[in-house]
Amino acid sequence: MFKALLLQEKDGKVTSAIEDLPDDRLPPGDVLIRVHNSTLNYKDGLVLNGLGKLVKTYPHVGGVDLAGTVLESQHADYKAGDQVILTGWRVGEVHWGGYAEKARVKGEWLVPLPHGLSTERAMAIGTAGFTAMLCVMALEEHGLRPDHGDVLVTGAAGGVGSVATAILARLGYRVVCSSGRADQADYLKSLGAAEVIDRATIAAPSGKPLESERWAGAVDSVGGATLAAILPQMKYKAAVAACGLAGGTKLETTVIPFIIRGVALLGVDSVMAPLMRRKVAWARLTKDLPMDKLDAMIHRAKLEELPALGKAILDGKVRGRVVVDLGV
Ligand code: NAP
Repeated sequence: MFKALLLQEKDGKVTSAIEDLPDDRLPPGDVLIRVHNSTLNYKDGLVLNGLGKLVKTYPHVGGVDLAGTVLESQHADYKAGDQVILTGWRVGEVHWGGYAEKARVKGEWLVPLPHGLSTERAMAIGTAGFTAMLCVMALEEHGLRPDHGDVLVTGAAGGVGSVATAILARLGYRVVCSSGRADQADYLKSLGAAEVIDRATIAAPSGKPLESERWAGAVDSVGGATLAAILPQMKYKAAVAACGLAGGTKLETTVIPFIIRGVALLGVDSVMAPLMRRKVAWARLTKDLPMDKLDAMIHRAKLEELPALGKAILDGKVRGRVVVDLGV
């Protein structure tokens, strides 16, 4: 038996309750995991609230990320006792996820827990932090270096933004954080932000296809009007790593920043990232993300608190990273 936060749907309304379920309710897979920790990402907020058409069948167990210990394995790479992380692969959407004491998944989706990282810290990183690392890697591969100038992080007090800020600051970049929460300026500075600016000033449309060259790079988890406003402000040949839609999906822009300044828009996806890239990103996270800064982002929660937290994250009211403790 195992405890799970089970989502049910009736007449288009999604409700949740903690239930005790037998192991044979778990979906098929070749690795059975005792889940120690999970987390809350923006997408989990959508699933918990029945939004985004992400879940096709109910009853469902959400939680796009999990970290735990292998109980049983038919997969060649894993054996009982191994500690593992799972992020993405549409787990928590089309496959039951981490909001349960046990999960059965495909071994090919797993990454070994890096040496020295606890399951709690792995979930403090979770999809949001992993994506932040992928964004930094994409900018570096495009050629970004600390001496090129200021790097902008949008949605900075959120999960992706907080981790991106801490990584970039550790790597020696001058990080400018855009946030809608003025009361989080001290928090963002404690993560390494050199400057915090009001997101309203960033997203205000000037209507000009080009503005003064301001950013050597940007990590954007907001999208919409924010991303549209950033593109004309990028320096010559600079890139934006775009990973999110917290501020909207519609992008109204012109081709001018691309064809006059050679600006690059780098799309970043974490869900289907191949295994090798995952391993590189997790290794980089253990090296380039200061653990004291990560610890300062953590808000610990129990399964029972997830429905309320799921609403809060969609309202942009969650700071940093929620870590769910499964208590086992
Ligand atoms: P989060 O913790 O809720 O952070 C999002 C932040 O965006 C908020 O904290 C807020 O920051 C800002 N924000 C919220 N609503 C806004 C609005 N209406 N206008 C402007 N800014 C707004 O969520 P997250 O888990 O970090 O995820 C952030 C985004 O990245 C989501 O859209 C998520 O779907 C996406 N994502 C994508 C991938 C991928 O693989 N591509 C992976 C992970 C996440 P401030 O209060 O500081 O302004």
